[in-house]
Amino acid sequence: MSDVRNVIIIGSGPAGYTAALYTARASLKPLVFEGAVTAGGALMTTTEVENFPGFRDGIMGPDLMENMRAQAERFGAELIPDDIVEVDLEGDIKTVTDSAGTVHRARAVIVATGSQHRKLGLPNEDQLSGRGVSWCATCDGFFFKDHDIAVIGGGDTALEEATFLSRFAKSVKVVHRRDTLRASKAMQERAFADPKISFLWDNEVAEINGDGKLSGLVLRNTKSGETSELPVTGLFIAIGHDPRTELFKGVLDLDEEGYLKVESPSTRTKIPGVFAAGDVVDHTYRQAITAAGTGCSAALDAERYLAALS
Ligand code: FAD
Repeated sequence: MSDVRNVIIIGSGPAGYTAALYTARASLKPLVFEGAVTAGGALMTTTEVENFPGFRDGIMGPDLMENMRAQAERFGAELIPDDIVEVDLEGDIKTVTDSAGTVHRARAVIVATGSQHRKLGLPNEDQLSGRGVSWCATCDGFFFKDHDIAVIGGGDTALEEATFLSRFAKSVKVVHRRDTLRASKAMQERAFADPKISFLWDNEVAEINGDGKLSGLVLRNTKSGETSELPVTGLFIAIGHDPRTELFKGVLDLDEEGYLKVESPSTRTKIPGVFAAGDVVDHTYRQAITAAGTGCSAALDAERYLAALS
């Protein structure tokens, strides 16, 4: 059994690393579980990040995350590239178990496990991520000036992305596998009124094509089974996100979409000493800077909680 730490952080995206930086600078010697295969979080899968303040000329996603990691490490954060597979968060001493079965103990835990965007599950999807394929119009829309773009999905997010992208794009085609939308009426009306947006009903993506960068899609009609080609250089996949909260079901409160609930505007969960930050909580903004911001808040909340214990 390990010594009791002040704070354990689960997750290594902008939220986890920022929480690590702040708690390390507060001399709390945080122990960070970064995840086994996805250390560094969602930005490890992208190319250029142009909207993280402080990088006038932009920065590659993996470089930004390596900088955050090194900055936390410089102040004494201990970083372990492993998954936490079990948690026991009740009581004054919380325990988390890593994939080798080792149990780690701490007085405070910060959860920053992020959320996973849903994928179409097609060949080329990952290879062309950041090369025409995206999951975030706010992040990448600017790169698609005068492009022909397809947005996949039929909910609020898909129509919000389509409407945002129409500012930049030459054309936006919303591809939806049904003939009605799930999006709110107001969102639908806004999209229908936009001259750059059109809809391809009853269609799903069968193939994503491109060699090094996206060149087009093959669509399949969900009723007739017929296929057709759609030459686009931008593909925004807006079919939902899954917050990584599997570990916390029945332990912490989750909302109806599975995100962790906190006592907003704080990062406190319902269990004293357990805090949550970043995209695992946030289904509204989902940006690196907002995740980093709440990671900072979680660190400060944990710091105050620990100070009150002593
Ligand atoms: P994440 O970055 O998702 O990190 C969560 C981490 O937790 C992961 O490292 C994972 O390994 C770890 N983890 C999960 N479960 C466990 C566990 N059980 N044990 C240990 N570790 C665990 N935002 C922008 O602001 N600008 C952009 O240009 C931009 N581009 C993007 C491009 C892409 C392709 C994607 C997918 C997202 C982009 N975003 C961008 C959004 C941004 O990446 C996210 O909002 C941000 O990364 C969320 O940070 P987070 O720390 O909450 O979670």
